[in-house]
Amino acid sequence: MPEAGPDLMDKVVNLCKRRGLVFASSEIYGGFRSTYDYGPLGVLLLRNVKDAWWRSMVQLRDDVVGLDSSILMSPKVWEASGHLANFSDPLVDCRNCKERWRADHIEDSCPNCGSRDLTEARPFNMMFKTFVGPVEEEAAEAYLRPETAQGIFVNFMNVLQTTRKKPPFGIAQVGKSFRNEITPGNFVFRTREFEQMEMEYFVPPGEGPRWFEYWCQERMRWYTDLGIPSDFLRLRHHEQDELSHYSAGTADIEFRFPWGWGELEGIAQRTDFDLVQHGEHSGERLEYFDQSSGERYVPHVVEPAAGAARSMMAFLLSAYAEDDVGGEVRTMLRLHHRLAPNKVAVLPLSKKETLTPTAREILGLLQPHFQCDYDETQSIGKRYRRQDEVGTPYCVTVDFDSLDDRAVTIRERDNLEQVRVPIDSLVGELGSRLGP
Ligand code: ATP
Repeated sequence: MPEAGPDLMDKVVNLCKRRGLVFASSEIYGGFRSTYDYGPLGVLLLRNVKDAWWRSMVQLRDDVVGLDSSILMSPKVWEASGHLANFSDPLVDCRNCKERWRADHIEDSCPNCGSRDLTEARPFNMMFKTFVGPVEEEAAEAYLRPETAQGIFVNFMNVLQTTRKKPPFGIAQVGKSFRNEITPGNFVFRTREFEQMEMEYFVPPGEGPRWFEYWCQERMRWYTDLGIPSDFLRLRHHEQDELSHYSAGTADIEFRFPWGWGELEGIAQRTDFDLVQHGEHSGERLEYFDQSSGERYVPHVVEPAAGAARSMMAFLLSAYAEDDVGGEVRTMLRLHHRLAPNKVAVLPLSKKETLTPTAREILGLLQPHFQCDYDETQSIGKRYRRQDEVGTPYCVTVDFDSLDDRAVTIRERDNLEQVRVPIDSLVGELGSRLGP
């Protein structure tokens, strides 16, 4: 990873646009307020980030199960969770230029015009409000969820009863959340619509602090295992006055972005706050009952909550590299194999019709196993560069000898090594190189 100067950010953002990873939303209408769309390669990358999270949090564990709850929920959920009363940012208005700012994001003057004539800070609720049904009246008001966590809490008993899990156990969810952020920005770092990867881990009372430590370590490891250098990551514990209304202790996993340290994930000890609140507001008992010991308790919760796009940005910034190949600058993404949008590119050496049937046959052989690209335009050198630039770990080149010897060349992105492999063993060879 190059030093995190401001031009690194420009280079990565340009790459995202140039190669169709991320587009400004509604671009033909001039864009729309810091919203973004993920293009053909971006959707693969983002999906791989979410899949890597799911794999480590659900697939590889027997103590965590998954859930997909709805974005629209009963407004009573937000009353009970405290979001209606507390989910706000302190806002100040500049009386001179009328710009509005988050009080904790500015010093004592307006960043736009420099005026010190600012209003007192006032709370501004960040939940998006909408109406459900045909009549726009107060009784039909609902909110887009500002976090996925509450969908997990309100399903606690459903999951407990249907899976017969016993604390400590977790429920994981990946999905969209919405916050009416005052100052979105830094590309996809802060947007109003974003995806979260959240897990609520339910533990016996008293075991919160221990599991909090455990999840801080586990989650740090996830980022380093997928290629983020450890000196670009830190765990920052919140000061007492920074804690959310529900938290007995929070630590943020932060990444050294080109503009400074920024949060990728928050790990919070939510205590029994949410289950108690929903228990009281709904009248349902949200408890765990241990039949063998006759013990009954409201579990405490440790929550690792990460953002998909923020993680994706950190992976991109960490993977970006430029090296010198034969006097020419080669731009590349040294993405972890699991994250790379395409795993393999099939490249016939030339566009000659004699090569096409064999190249297509190989593509058909690989597609059921790996996400593949196929490219037969331009010189082979240019096509290799295009694949390096978007992090494709392996290129498979089909040449005229392939027609006789039924073998192809595998070229590796990182060390440029080339090996000749029989077509019959290609799937196994690539599979063992790419890993599960
Ligand atoms: P911040 O302090 O940056 O506003 P937060 O502490 O409010 O974030 P959490 O409520 O802890 O964020 O949400 C968990 C994760 O969801 C964050 O670490 C981040 O990765 C992601 N996230 C939160 N808000 C946004 C947003 N507006 N855009 C993109 N991702 C977000």
